[in-house]
Amino acid sequence: MKIKELHVYAHDLPVKNGPYKMANAKVYSLDTTLVKIVTDTGLVGWGETCPVGSTYAPAHAKGARAALEEMGPGLIGASPHPLSLRRKMDSLLNGHRYAKAAVDIAAHDIMGKATGLRVAELLGGVAQESVPSYYATGVGEPDEIARIAAEKVAEGYPRLQIKIGGRPVEIDIAVLRKVWDVIKGKGVRLAADGNRGLPTRDALRLSRECQDIPFILEQPCNTIEELAAIRGQVHHGIYLDEMGEDLATVVRVAGQGLVDGFGMKVTRIGGLQQMAAFRDICEARSLPHTCDDAWGGDIIAAACTHIGATVQPRLNEGVWLAAPYIEGNYDRSGVNIVGGHIKLPEGPGLGVEPEEGMFGKPVLAFG
Ligand SMILES: [Mg+2]
Repeated sequence: MKIKELHVYAHDLPVKNGPYKMANAKVYSLDTTLVKIVTDTGLVGWGETCPVGSTYAPAHAKGARAALEEMGPGLIGASPHPLSLRRKMDSLLNGHRYAKAAVDIAAHDIMGKATGLRVAELLGGVAQESVPSYYATGVGEPDEIARIAAEKVAEGYPRLQIKIGGRPVEIDIAVLRKVWDVIKGKGVRLAADGNRGLPTRDALRLSRECQDIPFILEQPCNTIEELAAIRGQVHHGIYLDEMGEDLATVVRVAGQGLVDGFGMKVTRIGGLQQMAAFRDICEARSLPHTCDDAWGGDIIAAACTHIGATVQPRLNEGVWLAAPYIEGNYDRSGVNIVGGHIKLPEGPGLGVEPEEGMFGKPVLAFG
């Protein structure tokens, strides 16, 4: 089986009640990139990558499409087997894992359809059919965030992530104290996510003044060096998110004991093939982690849910989807969160069939 055609589409996903605010980015709408692969055996697979604007990460929508344009001609005739395909893409372009992820996801969709298996089964097997999710608040005021926290706990979310950073740390401390008042004793796990936005001074103070609140601190500071500097002084576990750029970094920080877990994004690490290796490294060191969207629509939501379904439940910090934050679905049924959990889509493949007509003409086509 070989790749015969590759089509690339651009599609707009509006943010509900936007903008969504993080320490260093405001999101009004998402410019997502979809990839359709057709094989010489007539199978069709879909992939997606959707950077959150152009300042959240070293990734942006036009960059994804430029990378796909660079690799496109060389991918015609290539094998859709995910490991071979990843090596092929690396031979055509250095880096740009977030663009390669869209091709990788489409290849997994194809392999599922070729074998009659769901992608989670291809990735090693389903540990949970009902995959836990978590709700991430934006950066906001104490009363508003506490109100959202209470609402999401009532909906059944097993975990909440509170965005902090990019403002006086006193407000972040007040938010965490107020949220804890609301959710204490309810068995909900809590993360405080700085999205790289806190100086070490503020991360240390926040941890010291919230010693009694059992949250984990997700990527409070900008670099691994800053995290290492505060590591021995904080009262909370530290998870790496944005700086967990590739498997080599994951091996380094896990090996050096610099982190207690990860927030991981399927597109940042390069797709499902690399994500499965990441999952196994984490399991070997008992490191909990998420399997997240980097925003995006139903295809990427399905990809994250499939890998999330394979994670050992004791280490599963949940699958975050953009679905509650964006308008509309391009799959008829969509991948949605109900009661804080996501039902693993039925296969084969990703179990998502996009309404292609919604995407207009392809912006790139090869083969
Ligand atoms: Mg994060």
